[in-house]
Order: sequence, then C-alpha cells, then structure tokens
Amino acid sequence: MQVLESIQAVQQSSQAFKAVGNSVGYVPTMGYLHEGHIELIKRAKKENDIVILSIFINPLQFGQNEDLDAYPRDREHDLKTAEEHGVDVVFYPTESIMYPRPMSLAISVNKRTDVLCGRSRPGHFEGVVTVLTKLFNICQPDRVYFGMKDAQQVAVVDALIEDFNFPVELVAVSTVREEDGLAKSSRNVNLSAEERAEAPAILEALMLGRSLVENGEKNPVEIRAQIRQFLENKTHGRIDYIELLSYPALEAVDTVKGQVILAAAVHYSKARLIDNIVFEADGTAG
Ligand code: AMP
Repeated sequence: MQVLESIQAVQQSSQAFKAVGNSVGYVPTMGYLHEGHIELIKRAKKENDIVILSIFINPLQFGQNEDLDAYPRDREHDLKTAEEHGVDVVFYPTESIMYPRPMSLAISVNKRTDVLCGRSRPGHFEGVVTVLTKLFNICQPDRVYFGMKDAQQVAVVDALIEDFNFPVELVAVSTVREEDGLAKSSRNVNLSAEERAEAPAILEALMLGRSLVENGEKNPVEIRAQIRQFLENKTHGRIDYIELLSYPALEAVDTVKGQVILAAAVHYSKARLIDNIVFEADGTAG
C-alpha cells in the first residue's frame, strides 16, 4: 500500500494504474475509520481493480462553532485498517497541501441545501463540493463511494458530478449500524456513556415515523410531531431537525407519497449526530 502526501504523486499513480487498463475506485473520508468506511472500501474493492482512499479533515466544511478541533484522529489505526482491507493508495494530505493559499474561486450550491444539514450548517455543502472537486481531480477515479448515512451529501454530490460533467460514477452504500441500531460514526466516541445509551433512540424514532406512514398516516406535520415527542422522551440530546422530504429531490411534501427520506439530527454535548431512512411511502423498502 502506498501512502502519498503529494497531489502530483496521487495523480501520477492513478493515471499509471488506468494507463494499463485498471479501473480506479475512490473512497473519500475524514479518517478515524470504522465499519461504515470499511463497507465502502469493500464495495470499491469488489467493483474496481484499484482502490484509493483519502483521509483529510476538510476545514472548509466545518462552521465556526463546530467540532473541527474535537474531530477524532488516529493515523496509525487508519493506515493499518486501510492496509488490512486491501487499499492500494492512501492519499493523506496536510491542510497546506490541499489549501496552500486562500481559494480564488468558490462553488455555490443552489439546490437541495435549504433543508436538513444544509440549513443547520451554512457553508457546509459548499465546503464539501469544493474539496471533492479538488479530490476528484487529484484521484481521478472511475467510481466514487459514499454512504447513505449522509444522504443529503449523496444528493449534492450527484448534482456536482452531473452539473460539472465529472467522468465519475457515484455509488451510494447503505448505512452500517451498531447492534443497537446507532449509525456508525467517527463522532460516536465523543458521546458520554449516558448519551451513547440514549442515541439508538434516533433510529427508533425514525422507524416509528416509518410505521406511522405504513399504517396510513400521510400528514408529515403529524408524523414529525410524533417523532419529536418520542425523541424528547427518550433522549436529553437537543433536536436540531426532524424532516420528512421527497427523495432524492429533498423537497417538502404536503402528503407523504413516493420515495421519501425521514431524517433527524441531534446535538449532544460534544457531538452532533445525524441519521436517516429512505423508503417508499406505500410500504416497500427504499
Ligand atoms: P466521513 O469520514 O464521516 O466523512 O465519512 C466518509 C464516508 O463514509 C462518507 O461517504 C460517509 O457517508 C460514509 N459513512 C460514514 N459513516 C457511515 C456508516 N455508518 N455507514 C455507511 N457509510 C458511512
């Protein structure tokens, strides 16, 4: 496994692999790798000859009062995990390699960001598409792998690829969960023991919403109210949002129909957790 810090080295490596007919799968991450990331790596391994993994905590996608400094890091564990799962190249740049000077240009995200995390985290998705534009040009993959845990990110990156004609195929991978249902996240280590015990309530609340829909409740206001009440009873975390939208358009709906996303974000003392489920309102799995 190659561990590369320089942009040019990764570009050359990717081009050399492709020149002899290999396909390149790419998994962008912020590190502190867990089974969610590993699932993406495994899928990329299965579908490509070569797998590139990047580990970069992108400051541009963190807001002023967010957890950039508290974001967990573990280089040794991450490199070992990558190696164990057959990653061919790890791109591990420093901040000054990625952003040697302030950017002269910016991409604005005009759709699908006035809801969910886009509304709670102004500038977040601009930071995400900026770093991904750079990373796509650096890693030059045929396929890129993202987790559905960040479903809004999948929708925004889909638009990035489409709007700017990146020759990349996006593959979305289902959310990997702990045994009690909590979505795996690098941020889970920043939960207190009490918060960790309460956090599975987020998925339980979303599943409650889904069962209401399946039992005939089609009014999103009513569904969200019941989810909120359930969550307020089950956790001390501060609810950031509970939303029920069409998917993948991420538009508000008056009546629940077609494919929808039920999503929630909850603030704990040192971590903000998000989760979602996507399903068909007529009861079939999404
Ligand atoms: P992160 O390191 O948190 O930026 O995540 C890197 C990639 O891993 C993103 O595409 C995430 O959606 C994905 N990911 C994170 N957690 C999970 C999970 N529990 N299941 C599946 N994918 C995940």
